[in-house]
Amino acid sequence: MPLHLSHDFATALPELSVPWSAEEVADPQPVVVNAPLAQRFGLDPEWLGGPEGARFLSGQELPDGATPVAQGYAGHQFGGYSPRLGDGRALLLGEVRGEDGRLLDVHLKGSGPTPFSRGGDGRAALGPMLREHLVSEAMHALGIPTTRSLGVVATGRSVMRADGPLPGAVLARVASSHLRVGSFQYAAALQAQDQDQDEDEDLVRRLADYAITRHHPQAADADQPYLALLQNVVRAQGELVAQWMCVGFVHGVMNTDNMTISGETIDYGPCAFLDAYDPAAVFSSIDTGGRYAYRNQPAIAHWNLARFAETLIPLLDPDQDRAVEIATEALNGFARAFSVAWVDGLRQKLGLSSDQEDTTVGPVADEVLQLLKQNRVDHTVFFHALTQAAAGDTRTVRSLFTDLPAFDDWLAGWQAFTPDAELMSRSNPVYIPRNHLVEEALQAATAGDLDPFHRLAEVLAEPYTERPGLERYAEPAPDSFGPYVTFC
Ligand code: AMP
Ligand code: MG
Ligand code: MG
Repeated sequence: MPLHLSHDFATALPELSVPWSAEEVADPQPVVVNAPLAQRFGLDPEWLGGPEGARFLSGQELPDGATPVAQGYAGHQFGGYSPRLGDGRALLLGEVRGEDGRLLDVHLKGSGPTPFSRGGDGRAALGPMLREHLVSEAMHALGIPTTRSLGVVATGRSVMRADGPLPGAVLARVASSHLRVGSFQYAAALQAQDQDQDEDEDLVRRLADYAITRHHPQAADADQPYLALLQNVVRAQGELVAQWMCVGFVHGVMNTDNMTISGETIDYGPCAFLDAYDPAAVFSSIDTGGRYAYRNQPAIAHWNLARFAETLIPLLDPDQDRAVEIATEALNGFARAFSVAWVDGLRQKLGLSSDQEDTTVGPVADEVLQLLKQNRVDHTVFFHALTQAAAGDTRTVRSLFTDLPAFDDWLAGWQAFTPDAELMSRSNPVYIPRNHLVEEALQAATAGDLDPFHRLAEVLAEPYTERPGLERYAEPAPDSFGPYVTFC
């Protein structure tokens, strides 16, 4: 096999995973492979898209050096703590080295039951795996840190779900790692258990050292490396969530097991993009309390980071009160990191110069977001139309508002800043994975027609470049689509 995998994580932290292998699949068939991503670590896309590639992508044939494991992790799910989640339908195959010399995880999702399956079947349906491929690759094209999809393979086996049998699939995912807040929670709990037996007294420390090496190597040189790790993760997550907010992304299941230490977006189960701008937007069928609503995402990220910080307390200072003070101060950095990135993102979306004070940008943005909400304007359509307005054509943007006098007032004030259309076109995507288009592509794929999926993937690969003939990909859902609900 033209690929070698290391087993860096499995070797460094054997307590945090279980050696395991993928369920046997008789006839794996490639559905989509990510050629540009494969090339980034020297893998031949043609091989990957062939029969041997399909056997690799479904875990049937292992590259040299691979010792696959199911990773353990805990997590707060909707605020309630589960001490043992883990890879219930996934495997870490091993790591490759990326172009920058850093390790990248190669991971399978839908590869069969593991010791962490908790009664689940360990499998995945084709639709949701293609959904993760589409949306994660769209996020990457938007410039937002994310796990990537190396490809999706159909297993030829059917998977039982609520609505009946569905075609099964495995997604191969590449990430700068799969370390999560929940990995630290799991390590802290194991360590507390084992301390009675005098084992593993430094498991969290070793995990933190590992995370520093892989994600925040500069933290190793700080006076207090573990504080620097916490500060780096706080900053990375603050910036990440600000970027989500700028494109109208609603993650949908921000449990602590779905929040990475790297600052990459992970787990595209029930996510969706805003259509009509609504801060209270929730799409997930199980998020009945609106915990993970669009506007709550920064507060939830902060809450999750507090759970991360708790696991690091013993490493921050020998005096527990002092350690809590240090952690709290680091967590307070979240509001700053988020708001700097959020205001800067809005500034670019509005085409305002970086000389503009935040105290100017904030109110201009707040006011227009308020108008978007009152007039139920599509978030992405608005910012694209505003880009056209910066280039001199205000017709489309004005047509979006029912309360035109109020919008014209705002428009005149905004125009006085001489907004930069060039900057705006780099900050406001034309094409996002619109809910109705994603559903259309997945339904067709599940019925055997992959054309709409491939076409949509191609459109989303260049989100900032408007192309003729692609109008329907830039439009909001027709009214007949109705309110959108996601399932995970
Ligand atoms: P998620 O909501 O996708 O982040 O998953 C939460 C947990 O449920 C993780 O531990 C998953 O491994 C597990 N899980 C989700 N679906 C399945 C399945 N079909 N079989 C086994 N475990 C699953
Ligand atoms: Mg998850
Ligand atoms: Mg999921």
